[in-house]
Amino acid sequence: MNARQSDAGHFAKNWQQQLAEAFTSLDDLCRYLHLDAGGLPASIGAAQQFALKVPLSFAACMEKGNPHDPLLRQVLPVSDELRAYAGFSDDPVGDIAASPQAGVLHKYQGRVLLVTTGSCAVNCRYCFRRNFPYGDLQLSKQTEQAAIDYIQADLGISEVILSGGDPLLLSDARLAQLFAKFNGIAHLKRVRIHSRLPVVLPARVTDALVGLLAQSGKQAVMVIHCNHANELGEQARAACRKLHRHGITLLNQSVLLQGVNDDARVLGQLSEQLFGLGVLPYYLHILDKASGTGHFEVSESRALAIMAELQAALPGYLLPKLVKEQAGAASKTLVV
Ligand SMILES: *Cc1c(COP(=O)(O)O)cnc(C)c1O
Ligand code: SF4
Repeated sequence: MNARQSDAGHFAKNWQQQLAEAFTSLDDLCRYLHLDAGGLPASIGAAQQFALKVPLSFAACMEKGNPHDPLLRQVLPVSDELRAYAGFSDDPVGDIAASPQAGVLHKYQGRVLLVTTGSCAVNCRYCFRRNFPYGDLQLSKQTEQAAIDYIQADLGISEVILSGGDPLLLSDARLAQLFAKFNGIAHLKRVRIHSRLPVVLPARVTDALVGLLAQSGKQAVMVIHCNHANELGEQARAACRKLHRHGITLLNQSVLLQGVNDDARVLGQLSEQLFGLGVLPYYLHILDKASGTGHFEVSESRALAIMAELQAALPGYLLPKLVKEQAGAASKTLVV
């Protein structure tokens, strides 16, 4: 984003423009946050491997002047990313082996995941996507029909999951086309969307989008991704409320991240605030061991201790399931 326009002026623009103006320069981001880039562990080398990308709507939820802000930590390229950590690799969850054809991941019974795009509105430093060969695996206009045929041909598939990258970066027109095709598949009961946009770029949740989801002809489920209650600014809250009001089932997944949310109090606040917006906690993920993310790791024993504290403090329905992904397993693996 170019320096010096007011936040309000930026937020008056449509989501595509807001996305185009996301921060991609460390200096611009630091200036906005009143931070001295020299005083941060920021790394140009890390940013060259995986670019800095942060929409203003997410940056606006950070605390100005705080180099340890838990939202900043999720997006700031740091030199720790260049360190090799034992056990961390480029395809930690075995996705490449689970792809029967371009853009389709069929790992679990009854559910098929479509990799609709490799892009996101934000680049989360802890993401396994940073090393993922999207060029080969994402759905394209050419391979889309083959993916639809694959779902059509398997009567055991009851749910299609749009993932990525972030599927809500697709245009409304492209989403409408996909939904129309899903509607023609009788054995499909639900369409699920995995998206971080309601949180990081809430302007994407337009009336047109909500209408499309609410009238899709299938049950619509949206799994948002929020790691810390501070991410739920006024615009994100309004986006969740709008989706909820239109009958879209809302769930949240978080990743357990050292220095961000490895604290029962932080996770408890997150669950409480989400529920106030009509969003139920779904999964708390143990970090996938992707290269460049080792400094975010929280050990399983510590994760279990946090969960025990959380369970003592919250009603059962506000407790996310602690899970990890294991290559070759038939589902996410519950950590107990
Ligand atoms: C996580 C995941 C799903 C969804 O799993 P649920 O337990 O139903 O949320 C489906 N397909 C793939 C490839 C996944 O990684
Ligand atoms: S939004 Fe999700 S897929 Fe995209 S970079 Fe962040 S964690 Fe990864």
